[in-house]
Amino acid sequence: MIEWKSPICLKVILIGNSGVGKSSFMNRYVNHRFTNMYRATIGTDFLTKEVNIDGSTVALQIWDTAGTERFQSLGTPLYRGSHCCLLVFDVTSRASFTALEVWRKEFLVQGEPLDPEGFPFIVLGNKTDLSNREVSRRQALQWCEQIGAQYFEGSAKDDVDVEKPFMTSAQAGLQQYKKHTLENTGHFQITCKQPRETRNNCQC
Ligand code: GDP
Repeated sequence: MIEWKSPICLKVILIGNSGVGKSSFMNRYVNHRFTNMYRATIGTDFLTKEVNIDGSTVALQIWDTAGTERFQSLGTPLYRGSHCCLLVFDVTSRASFTALEVWRKEFLVQGEPLDPEGFPFIVLGNKTDLSNREVSRRQALQWCEQIGAQYFEGSAKDDVDVEKPFMTSAQAGLQQYKKHTLENTGHFQITCKQPRETRNNCQC
């Protein structure tokens, strides 16, 4: 008899202003593709990728959210059940960096994580391939220290350091899962639906 064991499903959410490259980063990581064609995300979308963390296979469900005001009302159901949140900005846009404080607060209010103080945020500076940088690594690190987040930067376009933030979010998410989901399945339980382009065997 074959025993079927579905992998742990972790929900990682990408938030930040529209145009910072959330979809591009996610697509580069999952599908190894990049396009220069601008496509404003309509509502939300997610892709799933299986990763191995410390010998365990987990299904990383990566949610890409719309950064525009008109979709903000989607926040509540969308943010809930996240195991890790990636705050994304564009290193050539100071405004996209300062906006992260608002995005973070909104996530904490609408997502209602069980342990807001200990919830894992990862800050991601995208578009390091561009020369007109407005936010330095030092400035970003300073803010991350204040909020207790890890910092990564890279380029979806040039495929630079795309893997690290996702692997770190998977590790942080797995810790959240172990800490909360196993004890409070009702609150954190999420459903793995069929993503747009990728399908795996996650049945949680
Ligand atoms: P989103 O609204 O945050 O999902 O942003 P998109 O992924 O749609 O990207 C917005 C624009 O930025 C698109 O024209 C992308 O091609 C471009 N873009 C995304 N990532 C990079 C990057 O790493 N470098 C550069 N130069 N452009 C990027």
